[in-house]
Amino acid sequence: MVLLRVLGSAAGGGSPQWNCGCPVCAAVRSGAGPARTQSSAAVSAEGRRWFLINASPDVRTQIEAFPALRPREDRTTPIEGVLLTDAELDHTLGLLLLREARDGLVVYATPAVHKTLRAGSGLWRILERYCPVAWRAVVPGADMPLAEGLSCRAFDVPTTKRTRFGPGLDDGRVVGYRFTDVRSGRTLVYLPGVQALTPAVCAEIRGCHCLLIDGTCWRDDELVRLGVAGRTSREMGHLPIDGPDGSLVQLPALGAGRAIFLHLNNTNPIVLPDTPERRIVEDRGVEVAVDGLEVEV
Ligand SMILES: [Zn+2]
Ligand SMILES: [Zn+2]
Repeated sequence: MVLLRVLGSAAGGGSPQWNCGCPVCAAVRSGAGPARTQSSAAVSAEGRRWFLINASPDVRTQIEAFPALRPREDRTTPIEGVLLTDAELDHTLGLLLLREARDGLVVYATPAVHKTLRAGSGLWRILERYCPVAWRAVVPGADMPLAEGLSCRAFDVPTTKRTRFGPGLDDGRVVGYRFTDVRSGRTLVYLPGVQALTPAVCAEIRGCHCLLIDGTCWRDDELVRLGVAGRTSREMGHLPIDGPDGSLVQLPALGAGRAIFLHLNNTNPIVLPDTPERRIVEDRGVEVAVDGLEVEV
């Protein structure tokens, strides 16, 4: 089987975000919905050996909230490595918080992400001063055994969003991961950032047993309308949910057994349990992740 735990279901900034007084953040603060930590997940084949997918700035509290990730004795950890989908700070800052790793850290990243972390944000070089960091090169399209019975394949997710740390437009700046239980053939796709459901991306998703997909913004101009940012959701690399070419109308054709939105921005009304937008999503049979959600295929 493939086991996945959503450690954090919010986009960067979390929900509520520290400096945001938008209607959704205000409602979450008043108790109308659960607070959410920043985007990350843990995946395992049998529940003993785990891999983090991204390391959020909330990684410490996320590990403590999930007993399976806590140390068993001395300074051992069931976390065998960290898979990165991109080099965004909300997905990589947590690496610095894992710097006490006695035996070092194993980080899975594409060459483009590795380059950005080394030469761009410099986070990799900071981390190396504290503990050994082993790089496992992720090659989109290539199957990669992760653990006994668990295989993983990254796939390139085209984006026009440039990294903040350099001019790079290389392939592999953003990837999704398709996990397969090699015995049963059951599959789970983790895709927290997708700007467009291109034919190649759809081919990786099609027929998977569970899809966890980018639900950052409800509308493309959500942040512009609120006056909190000048860029649209797509310009930030995230396909909006709503609209004639949004993700919600495209999901049924992908034939995923189960579809779950995550990486939810604090402005997105679906983070609240009782909004019209949330009902639209649920009426279409799509779920909305919360921190601690566990799925198994
Ligand atoms: Zn993010
Ligand atoms: Zn907000």
